[in-house]
Amino acid sequence: MSRGSLPLYVEPFRLCDANTRVSGNLVAAQLERISEFAVGTADDVNVVLDFSRDADGRNCISGTVDTVVHTTCERCLGALDIPVHAKVSLVAIAVGGKVPETEDDVDIVEVEDERLALAPLVEEEVLMALPQYPVHESCDMVAYDRAAGGATVKPEQKANPFDVLAKLKKD
Ligand SMILES: [Zn+2]
Repeated sequence: MSRGSLPLYVEPFRLCDANTRVSGNLVAAQLERISEFAVGTADDVNVVLDFSRDADGRNCISGTVDTVVHTTCERCLGALDIPVHAKVSLVAIAVGGKVPETEDDVDIVEVEDERLALAPLVEEEVLMALPQYPVHESCDMVAYDRAAGGATVKPEQKANPFDVLAKLKKD
């Protein structure tokens, strides 16, 4: 798989004609909305997109989008890394063109002047894959919440790797 950078624009209909795979990395700086909406930052996004034409003549774009988004836990406000593995399933049509029938999980993407910008498309897939309320899977604050509700649950003390290091240094 190519580890080069993803092209900014592609010509989807031509790529579908030729059954082409486009892959590469999208640098996080190109993901404007993720920064703007203060979701946090993201690692470079690894993108693989297969362009093909199906039996019904539809221009299909399918593939995967992988990255890690760095944000904060809504509950404890601690740092939270969310691995994103999104499946892309799109049908490309010309702007104003007839919308073909598609399965429920397939989205339509309109293409202007036969040119499709990949960064906004990839960013959309990343944003859709993020939870609306990002929290740690096992968040210390859950225990505090329960305690506030009357139960006497102590937050579990997690072993701090730095404590271990400190001990090692003393020895
Ligand atoms: Zn948390």
